[in-house]
Amino acid sequence: MVNNQIIGDRETRPSPLSTEDLAVLRDNLREQRLFREDQLRQIAAAPARTDEPVRRTAAQTEVRVKLAASARMVLADVEAALDRIAEGRYGRCQLCRRGIDRDRLMIVPQARYCARCQQVREAGR
Ligand SMILES: [Zn+2]
Repeated sequence: MVNNQIIGDRETRPSPLSTEDLAVLRDNLREQRLFREDQLRQIAAAPARTDEPVRRTAAQTEVRVKLAASARMVLADVEAALDRIAEGRYGRCQLCRRGIDRDRLMIVPQARYCARCQQVREAGR
């Protein structure tokens, strides 16, 4: 009975983040967003060099495409996290719905999953 109450409380209580924590995380996410947007602009603006051997140009293009793809992926995660903050559902695992550890969010503010679910996802790849 007591155990049930504790478990129930764990699952329904709001995320353990304070207002200050959220402000720090939001600033961090906004900085990351600016950084990624800038990075994407730079990748897009990089001039295509026509004086290079074709093979090298192709390799550079491939690197750029990969860089842009990963920057876009992070940017999407960051924007989704900012949306979650705005909607008041930030800091909750999207799989098991438990609160994500504050320490984890301080390192990876855009985390969608708790450490446990992230591990399960990565193991399943
Ligand atoms: Zn989880």
